Amino acid sequence: MTTETKVIRCPSCGARDVRHSMSRGLLDAFNGAFGRSPMRCRQCQKRFYRRLPRQEQDDDETDLKESDDD
Ligand SMILES: [Zn+2]
Repeated sequence: MTTETKVIRCPSCGARDVRHSMSRGLLDAFNGAFGRSPMRCRQCQKRFYRRLPRQEQDDDETDLKESDDD
């Protein structure tokens, strides 16, 4: 079960009145590659990135090994 009701706050002023920002430019693409989504604060207009929660990839990476017995 995922409780994804975390309130996003502006890191600058602490307001909760933030919205998703359009991603554009290289920096956004770069951050997007790392699972970060651009956000914009409506109070102070500060733009920041929010890290998105990983989707069911909490298992250890040792599972990626291929099985060779055929
Ligand atoms: Zn703010």
